Order: sequence, then C-alpha cells, then structure tokens
Amino acid sequence: MTPPDRSSALASVPASGNRRAIPMPAHLKFFYGPMDCGKSTLALQIDHNQARQGRRGLVLTRYDRSGGPTISTRVGLSHDAIEVTDELDMCRLVRERWAAGQRVDYLIIDEAGFLNPEHVEQLAELVDEWHVDVYCFGLATDFRSQLLPGAKRLIELADEISAIQVEVLCWCGRPGQQNARVVEDRVVREGDTVLVADTGGAAEVRYQVLCRAHYRSGDLGRRVSADQLTLD
Ligand SMILES: [Zn+2]
Repeated sequence: MTPPDRSSALASVPASGNRRAIPMPAHLKFFYGPMDCGKSTLALQIDHNQARQGRRGLVLTRYDRSGGPTISTRVGLSHDAIEVTDELDMCRLVRERWAAGQRVDYLIIDEAGFLNPEHVEQLAELVDEWHVDVYCFGLATDFRSQLLPGAKRLIELADEISAIQVEVLCWCGRPGQQNARVVEDRVVREGDTVLVADTGGAAEVRYQVLCRAHYRSGDLGRRVSADQLTLD
C-alpha cells in the first residue's frame, strides 16, 4: 500500500479532535453507578485524557458535594466547573464559547442524573447537530430506588450507557446498588430527591450504599466508624 503524500496532507490536518473542521459522528455517553464508585474521578480522568490529545472541553456539574461549582472527588482531586442551573441552555453555552473564539470539542458533566430532561435534549442536539462529544456521569437512581430524571432521559437517548465497574460493597459484602438515605439510623423512602450530602444541616442525613436485599429490609448493619476501621 502506498502511503499518502504526507507533506500536503499535514497542512490540512486540523488540530486533533477538531470536529468542527472535519465533522465526525460525536457521541452521547452516560456512565452511571452508586455513590462512592468513583464517577467524579473518572470524569476528571476522561477530561485529562481528552485534553492531552489536544482537545478542548467544558466541565459542568450539578449540585456538587462541595456545594460550589467544582467537581470534587473523594480521592481528593478537584476541578473548576460550570454549574448547571435550570435556566442553562447547553447549546447556547457552547455556541457562546465558540463565538468568543474558544474551542469546545466535548463536554464532561458530573452529577448528570440530576439534569432536567430538557438539558439532556440539548445535549443530544449538541451531539447530533454540532458534533460535540458529551460524557455524562451520575447516579441512575435516587434514594427511593427510582430513576432520576436526567438519568432516565440519558438512558433513553444516549449512544452508550455504561455501569462503572468499580464495585461499592454493602456492609454484608454484596455489591451495593441502592443509594439509601438514612435519617437517625433508619432508611427513609420518602422526601425530596435532591438533598445533597456533605453540606451539613440540622437533622443528620446521610447516605449509605446497600445491596438490594438490605435496602428492602432497611438493615444498615453495624455502623463502623473510621477509627474502628483502622484500629480494630
Ligand atoms: Zn447487603
């Protein structure tokens, strides 16, 4: 096979991943998993990998656990992010950046389970019409074990849906799938969907990942403190 004439080809090759110069099929991907499975860490890793290939993207989040517009991870990484509000139009956001001369090849969206369905429609438009890759990360279900609105629409529309492969274990050792909300050591199954953990508050509300059987029975096991984990 004769190699192509590289000298003339190189001059017209756009920067790596510049989908606006050579439109290629873009993708809408949704990575989901229970709390603490490393979704935010994976989000930042993908951003890093893309950026290393010369691509440029925006990082967004909704209700991050730090309470501010950053993606913070439980392993200590963090990244400034754009807060997704109800009013935010994803398409307009990207087009405004383009108008300002900024490249946007992809979006990374953390806590995507909490997106409104309309946000997901806008993401689909960005992928199909504007060739922007979109990587979404989030919970699939809420503390009632029901699909979150953003997750539901992503499952309906995404090109690819992946369960994050890092297993989070229930106290019994089985894989945890359910994000239980716990108030005064009892599993609660009613209330507002959005009640972000780690921000402090009057009543002690915490979340615990349980297997389905223990979510159903409400058995939280013996509560182990961090001290006991290291000293026992
Ligand atoms: Zn269990």
